[in-house]
Amino acid sequence: MARFILFALLLLFFYTILYYLIKDMVVRRKKLGREPEPEELVQDPYCQTYIPKRTAVRKRVKGGNYYFCSKECLRKFLEEKKS
Ligand SMILES: [Zn+2]
Repeated sequence: MARFILFALLLLFFYTILYYLIKDMVVRRKKLGREPEPEELVQDPYCQTYIPKRTAVRKRVKGGNYYFCSKECLRKFLEEKKS
């Protein structure tokens, strides 16, 4: 009889672990499936490419903010402005 109780407890123990593992997997899958935050896009005034604001190269010119896809575009844009 004691053996049966031990077995039942062991089974319950495994079921509990399995339950939490599956629950954790489902939660993780839901998090992965969630849509990423919409990222604000800015336009490079030099090459007209749209880039996410987070990764853009920012430059303040006469009070206005300009965003570039690369430092190269920023350099060329400033050169064009000068001439
Ligand atoms: Zn560019």
